[in-house]
Amino acid sequence: MEFIDLKSQYSVIEDSVKERIQQVLDHGKYIMGPEVEELENRLAVFSGVKHCISCANGTDALQMVLMAWGVGPGDAVFVPSFTFMSTAEVVRLVGAVPIFVDCDGRTFNINPQHLREAIEGVRQRGVLIPKVVIPVDLFGLIADYDAIELVAMEYGLKVLEDAAQSFGASVNGRMAASFGHAATTSFFPAKPLGCYGDGGAIFTNDQELASLLKSIRVHGQGSDKYDNVRIGLNARLDTLQAAILLAKLDVFPEEIKARQLIVENYKAALMRSIRLPLIPEGSVSAWAQYSVLAQSEAHRTKLMEALKQAGIPTMVYYRKPLHMQTAFEDGREHQGSYPVSENIASRIFSLPMHPFLEQQDIESIAAVINSVEA
Ligand SMILES: *Cc1c(COP(=O)(O)O)cnc(C)c1O
Repeated sequence: MEFIDLKSQYSVIEDSVKERIQQVLDHGKYIMGPEVEELENRLAVFSGVKHCISCANGTDALQMVLMAWGVGPGDAVFVPSFTFMSTAEVVRLVGAVPIFVDCDGRTFNINPQHLREAIEGVRQRGVLIPKVVIPVDLFGLIADYDAIELVAMEYGLKVLEDAAQSFGASVNGRMAASFGHAATTSFFPAKPLGCYGDGGAIFTNDQELASLLKSIRVHGQGSDKYDNVRIGLNARLDTLQAAILLAKLDVFPEEIKARQLIVENYKAALMRSIRLPLIPEGSVSAWAQYSVLAQSEAHRTKLMEALKQAGIPTMVYYRKPLHMQTAFEDGREHQGSYPVSENIASRIFSLPMHPFLEQQDIESIAAVINSVEA
């Protein structure tokens, strides 16, 4: 059994992927070829946002937005403590300080009340200036932007949606990557919409930000290729990856639907010795991961071991919250405490999740889980 099954997906899209790749080989425009713009236009329409700027990966995407906003030394950027490294790493890369915020115990997303407390704490200490919050749509579930945007507005913060795991998700019909002042996503192969290498994109309705990002993407380019007006990056998306994404985008909406069905089947088959993910009313997750909570760390170890014995792969996202990582030791004087993240990190694990998971697979996974006592 595969944790994420890219081979079955390839067997469905093989012809169109090969055709798209062949077209790139024929025209030879490997850097910023026509597929890049075609993809950007289609992704903008898909997410319901005016501008899509593709780039090299989801980490560069985050960093580019912070660079465009001029975030740097002396600035505080609020990020969830329970997320992937990139979200906080980019804050350090631009010289600002990541301020971790505890997550909600049911959705695993940033807790808006804790966000408010963290901003208040930074203001009281008076060393850093609160500038940006980067909510993450963890495991594919869109964060609570209604509440987050209220807090952000009150304190004058910009909101950057990290939609690396949620592309394809929606809330009452509004698509992921359309929240906040800007949003980013990743096309890392294992993400809901993945390419066959690294890739990413930025989404915004802000025309000025979009032109800045296009300049930053190519060494701070000005009016022509050898005019450099700012410090930028080399952060373009390869034409070949854009071509692959165009082929994958054709089947993507069906895959998102298939994932919902698999979740329904998981819900029906799994008994409640583990806690299943909560999806608020009106929300459709992209199900980057199907993450469940064991009753304790020991229970998780037992479950994962039993599944492994049965040939069923599982993963732990994330075993160590970011505030506990050595890389962020230096900012600890600015930090609070994160009991929810720490509790979740000790109990969470992810089951196989991809659009090609069979009912039979789900039944064998459930049989193992249901037989393990807490
Ligand atoms: C994967 C991921 C990223 C980074 O994407 P890359 O394309 O691997 O650089 C950023 N944030 C989150 C939450 C992610 O899961």
